[in-house]
Amino acid sequence: MNKHLNELIELSKIDQAIDSYNPQLEAADKKVAKVQKKIDTAQAELDELTSAIADNEEKVKSFEEQLTLLNEQLASNVKKAKEITTEKEMKALSLEEDIAKEKMTFANEEIERLQAINETKTALLDEANEKVDALSADLNKIMEEVSAEKAEIEKSKGELFVKREELSRNIEQKVLSFYEKIRAWAGNTAVVPVKKQACYGCYMKLNDKTYSEVIKGDEIVNCPHCGRILYIEKVTEEA
Ligand SMILES: [Zn+2]
Repeated sequence: MNKHLNELIELSKIDQAIDSYNPQLEAADKKVAKVQKKIDTAQAELDELTSAIADNEEKVKSFEEQLTLLNEQLASNVKKAKEITTEKEMKALSLEEDIAKEKMTFANEEIERLQAINETKTALLDEANEKVDALSADLNKIMEEVSAEKAEIEKSKGELFVKREELSRNIEQKVLSFYEKIRAWAGNTAVVPVKKQACYGCYMKLNDKTYSEVIKGDEIVNCPHCGRILYIEKVTEEA
């Protein structure tokens, strides 16, 4: 068989082998991204609970301050009551006291309500914290696995790159650039076998003349339909 063709078949097989690691690398990245997404969701829940609890605490504090003021107001009303001389003044003071007491009741109810809510939310917060911790531990484990997996892949790829480098150094520049030109659009199917008299890149049938040229293998033959480089797989290779 043509020397150049043999070289290109080998080169294309190395290129295919190099790229064959891509799905594995993508899958590895996806594994990490999947857990990271879960962590982000759990963390968002946690943040939401934290901020809701803080908001409620802030509200409780403001109701408590209100209660302090209302208590002071009631105390001062008791003093005022002693100095009252008219019924009108007394009515006004009593009305003021009623309003203050109503406000106090409301404030106490609100404090109770908000504290009950926060109790529930705090329990949920504990759960959310545990979830984030567990997921983070998962992530660490997966990242360790993935980085080991990736290191292994990069090592294998590195070896293939070395092989490719050695091989392409020996290929005539003209032949090499011819291959690269096809590879630019055909990717890893720049050099394809012919099976059942059809190009295995575009799956179109070859005419008898082209087919016999491919079988002879004296020249580099391009598929007349798509332009890929064609070859016949040796029977020994297939077996
Ligand atoms: Zn073709």
